[in-house]
Amino acid sequence: MIKEITIGVAIAALIFLALQGVNLLPLLFLGALCYLLYNLSGLKVINKGFQGQISPKTRGITFADIGGQENAKKEIIEALEFIKDSSTAEQLGIRPLKGILLAGPPGTGKTLLAKAAAAYTGASFIATAGSEFVEMYAGVGAQRVRELFQQARELARRDNRKNATIFIDEIDVLGGKRGQNFGHLEYDQTLNQLLVEMDGITANDEVRVLVIGATNRVDLLDAALLRPGRFDRIIQVELPDKDGRLQILKLHTANKPMAPDVNLESIACQTFGFSGAHLESLANEAAILAFRGQEKILKQEHFIEAIDKVMLGEKMDRQPSKDDLKRVAVHEIGHAIVSERVRRGSVSTVTIIPRGSALGYMREVPEADSYLQTRRQLEEKIQVLIAGAIAEEILFCSRSTGASSDFAEAAQLAKGMVFAGMSELGIVDPDSLPQNLLHRAVAQILRVQEELVREELQDKIEIIRCISQELLREEKLSGERLRQIIAGEDKPQTKAHLA
Ligand code: ATP
Repeated sequence: MIKEITIGVAIAALIFLALQGVNLLPLLFLGALCYLLYNLSGLKVINKGFQGQISPKTRGITFADIGGQENAKKEIIEALEFIKDSSTAEQLGIRPLKGILLAGPPGTGKTLLAKAAAAYTGASFIATAGSEFVEMYAGVGAQRVRELFQQARELARRDNRKNATIFIDEIDVLGGKRGQNFGHLEYDQTLNQLLVEMDGITANDEVRVLVIGATNRVDLLDAALLRPGRFDRIIQVELPDKDGRLQILKLHTANKPMAPDVNLESIACQTFGFSGAHLESLANEAAILAFRGQEKILKQEHFIEAIDKVMLGEKMDRQPSKDDLKRVAVHEIGHAIVSERVRRGSVSTVTIIPRGSALGYMREVPEADSYLQTRRQLEEKIQVLIAGAIAEEILFCSRSTGASSDFAEAAQLAKGMVFAGMSELGIVDPDSLPQNLLHRAVAQILRVQEELVREELQDKIEIIRCISQELLREEKLSGERLRQIIAGEDKPQTKAHLA
């Protein structure tokens, strides 16, 4: 508003002077020069400070609003007890806790944990991100760090609080190893300033500041930042396990009307590898699907479709040719048949409806959260991955480019097997293993699995043909339907020409 009034007054003054016959050219020139200097000198950036980048809203977020993450919550609460009971901590001579680092993949709830930590200690809360400090102008980053700490203290004073929490997301951008950014030392100055500010935190401060950093690349951080007395606690915030996923789903569906058929436990089982953010999106997508279908409540089918959407993206309008569709159907059924042989009940859905970059896909139900894999499990995974291409080869006497991502994934698994000492090379040193030897060992693993799958699918040509016909007609088959046909309980009625 003030800006608009100033501009209006300036224009009016210029018109007045022009009417009085004053030569305006030198004035205009001077004005343009000042404007240029103001923008280039970085003054504007410094003056802008953190206005608009702080988020003092933590009300409402408590540890109870965070699903799973039991270990992370426990560790943070333990650390925060020193702040809550600062007099006992002081009596025992415990130095103040200055920083907590939350390390883990995106979307796992690090920001939520920081907000809940602030609420737990009754602190005011300021959030920012490492990228906010990166400027090409020397000294701006360091100035912003100073301002950030000042602002956190002012905010706490204004709110009559004794504690302030500063949350710095992507702290690796600002706290990366020093001396690595050749050309200018701006990054190093910014990090130095953060270290200085953290060192300046004492037990006697009127407002006690706690810095919570978040990153998914702890390895990139400067050692000085991680030494005791700065980020005292490093807390791992992992992807949620099945129970964690169930809790997160319960939290994000609590405000939604649910049909009695919704089984969140089964949704939690099918979403191995999903972060909290994925699960929040899943619940939201399920509600959108219900809305599109003009339903008043969310049903299990909405959740199942929402899993596909979150995993693979929106359904595509593009319609593949009939020949492509037949190929895609055979490819997906190849995957599905081998997957069912490896683990009965493993197929959740098979479809030829294009979604994201996939023309079709087979989605498996993960068995249980498992973090270790045996040689046999890895070989079976490779078999499922290459089965699509081999089914195509058997029915159409040729392969297609549709299998390239399957092969890339299979090769990656085979490489993992070589490094885990599961190949003909025995135990190897990954750093000194020559590329040609690695390539040979990977190719050998893939060749053996390929032969096994070819033998298996040669014997199953009829069933592949039969289920592909049904898939072409229905576009989507549930795991149950697929198992019915494989077991010969129910045969598709019509025939379509496949090959
Ligand atoms: P990033 O590293 O990308 O900044 P983050 O780890 O800080 O991500 P948040 O911003 O805390 O993740 O989470 C994003 C959203 O995901 C939250 O607003 C919330 O809706 C949901 N979410 C993530 N984890 C959880 C959880 N454990 N419980 C409930 N909701 C969660």
